[in-house]
Amino acid sequence: MSHSISSLWLSPPKDLVSRVTRCIDSALDENEKREGIVFFRADDVAVPGKGFSRLMELFIRHRTPLSLGVVPAWLSGPRWKVLKGFERRDSGLWCWHQHGWRHQNHEITGKKQEFGPVRTESQIKRDLIRGRRRLEAQMESDFCPVFTPPWNRCGLSTLILLRELGYHAVSRSTGSQPSTPIELPDFQVNVDLHTRKEQRPLAGWDGLFEDLKRALMSGFCGIMIHHQRMNQAAFTFLDVLLEIFSRRIDLSLVHFGDLVRLQARQS
Ligand SMILES: [Zn+2]
Repeated sequence: MSHSISSLWLSPPKDLVSRVTRCIDSALDENEKREGIVFFRADDVAVPGKGFSRLMELFIRHRTPLSLGVVPAWLSGPRWKVLKGFERRDSGLWCWHQHGWRHQNHEITGKKQEFGPVRTESQIKRDLIRGRRRLEAQMESDFCPVFTPPWNRCGLSTLILLRELGYHAVSRSTGSQPSTPIELPDFQVNVDLHTRKEQRPLAGWDGLFEDLKRALMSGFCGIMIHHQRMNQAAFTFLDVLLEIFSRRIDLSLVHFGDLVRLQARQS
């Protein structure tokens, strides 16, 4: 896997605090309820390291929940033991869930997918079940049955299987197709911090703030994180973002476990 750093992180603006604050204020001005739900989802988790620890320390410092997509084939007993250290320290903050089987693309043409149309139903079912068993074997009750497909994409048969296998939800990116069967909620991410496509830093920052504003205007803001692609500027920005978010009473910071409970109460 390549871990390149998106252009915006090579040239961060100086006025981060005021830009973030202005962005939130103007978004909520245009939001009928003037409040929003915010979640953070970190993908490609399993291997402990400096970047991962730094990420976790930030969320602990700001008492902000984080949903962690763990790649089952990468998780070993010793690795979980390290991750579990964060679980013990702050057990209410984390939602450990399933991210693919081994993060491998199987499609020959088109966009990358591990659970896409080229796979048979039985292959998909096998990968989902062995992934879940592996995570449950290590994590036991710390595991939350929500599935994030690698590259935010999967086919309809995966969505149907997820529902049949009793997953509480899927998490893809905003506007993902095919849409989910009605009984399977999709906790969509609509802000991507570290895999942005803009070539120029300025365009990257404009794009990021536009996405953030649109998400907060909708009242539901899902922010995607890749700790392997974070440099100092990316950590500084996340620190600022968490500091501002966690102080606002008009924003509810949640993880997938909270969203599952919220959904159950509403239905
Ligand atoms: Zn991933």
